[in-house]
Amino acid sequence: MGALAMDELQAQVRGDVILPEDGRYEEARHVYNAMIDRRPAVVVRAVNAGDVMAAVNFAREKGLDLAIRGGGHSVPGFGTCDGGVVIDLSRMRGVRVDPASSTARAEGGATWGDFNAATYPFGLATTGGIISTTGVAGLTLGGGIGYLARGFGLSIDNLLSADVVTADGRFLVASDHENEDLFWALRGGGGNFGVVTSLEFQLHPVKDIYGGPMFFELSEVETILRFYRDFIAEAPEQLGAFPAFQIAPPLPFIPEDRHGDTFIAMVACWAGPLEKGEEALKPFHDVAPVVAEHVGPMPYPALNAAFDGLVPPGLQHYWKASFVKELTDDAIAAHGVHGPEVPAVNSTVHIYPIDGAAHRVGAGDTAFAYRDANFATVIAGMWPDPAQNEANTAWVRNYYDATVPHSEEGGYINFMASDDQARIKANYKGNYERLVAIKRTYDPGNLFHLNQNIKP
Ligand SMILES: Cc1cc2nc3c(=O)[nH]c(=O)nc-3n(C[C@H](O)[C@H](O)[C@H](O)COP(=O)(O)OP(=O)(O)OC[C@H]3O[C@@H](n4cnc5c(N)ncnc54)[C@H](O)[C@@H]3O)c2cc1C
Repeated sequence: MGALAMDELQAQVRGDVILPEDGRYEEARHVYNAMIDRRPAVVVRAVNAGDVMAAVNFAREKGLDLAIRGGGHSVPGFGTCDGGVVIDLSRMRGVRVDPASSTARAEGGATWGDFNAATYPFGLATTGGIISTTGVAGLTLGGGIGYLARGFGLSIDNLLSADVVTADGRFLVASDHENEDLFWALRGGGGNFGVVTSLEFQLHPVKDIYGGPMFFELSEVETILRFYRDFIAEAPEQLGAFPAFQIAPPLPFIPEDRHGDTFIAMVACWAGPLEKGEEALKPFHDVAPVVAEHVGPMPYPALNAAFDGLVPPGLQHYWKASFVKELTDDAIAAHGVHGPEVPAVNSTVHIYPIDGAAHRVGAGDTAFAYRDANFATVIAGMWPDPAQNEANTAWVRNYYDATVPHSEEGGYINFMASDDQARIKANYKGNYERLVAIKRTYDPGNLFHLNQNIKP
């Protein structure tokens, strides 16, 4: 790309225009997943919607690939590209809370840590992810699964409106009374429809929660998973909880001689009255002996950041995912074979409940089609050493293959790898054709194709 063209772009951008010769380029080209090694022609660190419009127009007019980066957590590395333009929103992280309406507006590069820190002082929260460094926009646009999903629905179910820069460089507001089709598609359709510069959410009264992780012996895997399946289906919706295969990190609440051992864990978040927290989690204590736990009252943002240390930037990532209607005994048996083989302290497998309030939204009401699935499973391979890539990727693949017969055809797009594009139709079931039609309206040239791509 000529220097003149870059000068033109710089003249229109208030934020940073970072070229390969810039000292900031090395850091700017990288994303969270260290397996991804790409060299964009330019990284635009936008500071406002105008910068985003300029970068979108530039990429389209020059015929360049365009990557959108919010929090940078995409496992397939959709937030960077080779030879194209990256719109990096990490300088747009403001969050404004309106306590009168119990709503908050987050800029397109805010993380859940930014969001929860802003809403917590007001005693308010909404459904977000379980790690504080994940981006609000990327997580929400794919659906948004977290501790509060049973109580308040997915993140998209709490999305009230979004500001969007579309492929033609226009700035649009999408909500249930403005550009309704775009708003429908954004809620589950990922980054296919434009760059979202801000998102407005409904908040709920949540401040301190009662929860944390409990560790059980691997010999209890089947007991724990069967119990969890039956218990969570009937549990009050203020309870979010998911089982996890986890190697014990060297933390003070775990007996020292058990550090490095693998456990089946249960991570719980009771968002009801604090004084009822202990009682709400008691069934987990009754089902099998707890080897170690770190459970108690804590600020919701503290639980949201509790596992950040296990997943620092710079790990190798390979993930697979599927939706599950019934966690059958056969499915549990498959988990019992592969879960205990979890290869690194950073790697894990989570089976998230997506029932409760998430089921009260119709399959066709948003782009997120799997409203009849009870669980979203993620096999999250994460490890530091690239020399382990082959072995650890094989663990994820073999595990996933063993769960396929017990799972739905589709999975949650945000938990998927770059080799999952063939599942795109299945991920959206009956909503796929409508998504294609909306893609044709807003992005007929498929400018936004670095994502789980809905082709126009
Ligand atoms: C450690 C970790 C924990 C996670 N935990 C959860 C969890 O608890 N719940 C859950 O649901 N998911 C979770 N995820 C998955 C997560 O939702 C996806 O990785 C998501 O894509 C991350 O969004 P991001 O903005 O951080 O990523 P990015 O890499 O910045 O973005 C990914 C893609 O999302 C789209 N996108 C991002 N921002 C925008 C924007 N402003 N406008 C338009 N499109 C945009 C683009 O297509 C972009 O390429 C987790 C991922 C990781 C790595």
